[in-house]
Amino acid sequence: MADRPRIIGIDLGTTNTLVASVRNRIPKIVPTDRGNLTLPSVVALSARGDLLVGGVAKDQMVTNPKNTLWGTKRLIGRKYNSKTVEDLRGYFPYDIVEGANGDAAVMMGGKLYSLPHVSSFVLGQVKTIAEQFLGGPIEGAVISVPAYYNDNQRNAVKEAGRLAGFDVKRIVNEPTAAALAYGFNRGLDQKVLVYDLGGGTFDVSVLHLAGNVFEVLATGGDTFLGGADFDNRIMEYALERFREETKVDLNTENPIALQRIKNAAEAAKIDLTLIPNVVIDLPYIDERKGKPMDMRIPLTREFLNSLTGDLVDRTFEICDRVLAEKGISRAEIDEIILVGGQSRMPLVQQKIQAHFGKAPRKGVHPDECVALGAALLGDSLGSIDAVTLLDALSMPIGYAMPNGRVKRIIEKNSLIPMVKSFRLPPPKEPGSPFIELDIYQGDSDLLVDNEYLGTVRVPSAAAGRKIDFRLTEECLLQVTVEEASGMRKVDLATRDTPEQLKRALQEVASRHSQQVPSSSNSGSDDRGLFSSIKSIFRRG
Ligand code: AMP
Repeated sequence: MADRPRIIGIDLGTTNTLVASVRNRIPKIVPTDRGNLTLPSVVALSARGDLLVGGVAKDQMVTNPKNTLWGTKRLIGRKYNSKTVEDLRGYFPYDIVEGANGDAAVMMGGKLYSLPHVSSFVLGQVKTIAEQFLGGPIEGAVISVPAYYNDNQRNAVKEAGRLAGFDVKRIVNEPTAAALAYGFNRGLDQKVLVYDLGGGTFDVSVLHLAGNVFEVLATGGDTFLGGADFDNRIMEYALERFREETKVDLNTENPIALQRIKNAAEAAKIDLTLIPNVVIDLPYIDERKGKPMDMRIPLTREFLNSLTGDLVDRTFEICDRVLAEKGISRAEIDEIILVGGQSRMPLVQQKIQAHFGKAPRKGVHPDECVALGAALLGDSLGSIDAVTLLDALSMPIGYAMPNGRVKRIIEKNSLIPMVKSFRLPPPKEPGSPFIELDIYQGDSDLLVDNEYLGTVRVPSAAAGRKIDFRLTEECLLQVTVEEASGMRKVDLATRDTPEQLKRALQEVASRHSQQVPSSSNSGSDDRGLFSSIKSIFRRG
């Protein structure tokens, strides 16, 4: 629309990033400088010290693994000591280190980079591509994030957008964006299941579409299930076959050979989507006594299906759980929308048909729909036929109790935007000048399994006053506390070492698990213990 500033939609993916814009109400993907529709989400520093982004960075990944950052979407907004980062250490060839505020950060060329900074390089490239293609400056962007992203992760993506020079108009959940690409302006009244099997994660969301009102009914997923698991199965098989035939174990040595096999495994998997047989053909994969060794392993689609069928079945266990949580039957789902490159595998589509009794929707492009939906949302912001998004909170939010558990304030699947009010409890330590609520987000009742979001710190005189937890339409938490003059916004403070707090609480929880049966029951003994633990922390 000529009279409104253009807002682009960005799908900042684990593997690839896509950008879309709307012209005459039609959303279209903007091609990259290489003429592709996707920009690899890869950032690297070359041996010459040049910063590389996208395809050029991906091209040199095999020879420069330590300084090539990929898959960083899994790390952004995570604490260095979180379980997820612990699980991912060793998975990436580059170094993950502790950055500011205990956040995970990465090393590239001997320098520390925050993860929003790394993503800002990708977003900056996207900005240049869009500006060149569309002509003229673009400031506004809607950026998509996985539905399961917590408050820290959402804020980190917003920060990345800002660092790249965008005015981030909205953070939107990926499944909601996909549903928008399918249903925007179509006047539908349907229940839709968005099945998103990407490179590293699986997500499922169920939405009710009523005209241009998009309401998320339920959401769930597995952050460790995706295309890479399919590649690993092929890779393990190839290594095993090679070992049988040559008695050479490539697993323990030769990282470059392993990376070549990994790439070939993924390429074979993608080819098997279209053709029934492929050969993994890698000349000179290794050498023995100066003689080159080649790898040549035939693979059929049928065999790939037998290697990976259980991974696909795992996605259905998650779908069924999400549906059951809301009492929705499979038969009530009107459409299944596929998102994510791995959902193109024929086995995935066959099994969906068998499981749900209907084929997934054709005509919604699994790679493109999130960026297209984000662009549609961007274009509709401020217009008279703007869409209404009623999203759902994917993980509950609460505050820390002295017994190592979480007092839930906002439940999972609560409709957002929303506000939840409660009364501020008294300070934990009698006579303390402050009330401090450490806020956590996660599915578990135990603090240790939750992500620390920040601390509300107010004078103790505020005990008994109203406190509001507000979730914006971007699913970001805002806290306000009642004062004589009205509600005042409180910025969340960050502890110097929230993870230490968590570890200490874990010890307390495990020592006292027998005595502390429930979160609503905080005995005075635990209160004392909690004070002594907290006294070891420096205050921010
Ligand atoms: P995404 O994170 O959505 O970009 O998905 C990337 C994943 O999709 C990677 O694991 C790719 O190997 C996989 N993928 C892409 N295209 C295909 C295809 N045609 N068949 C199977 N998997 C694919």
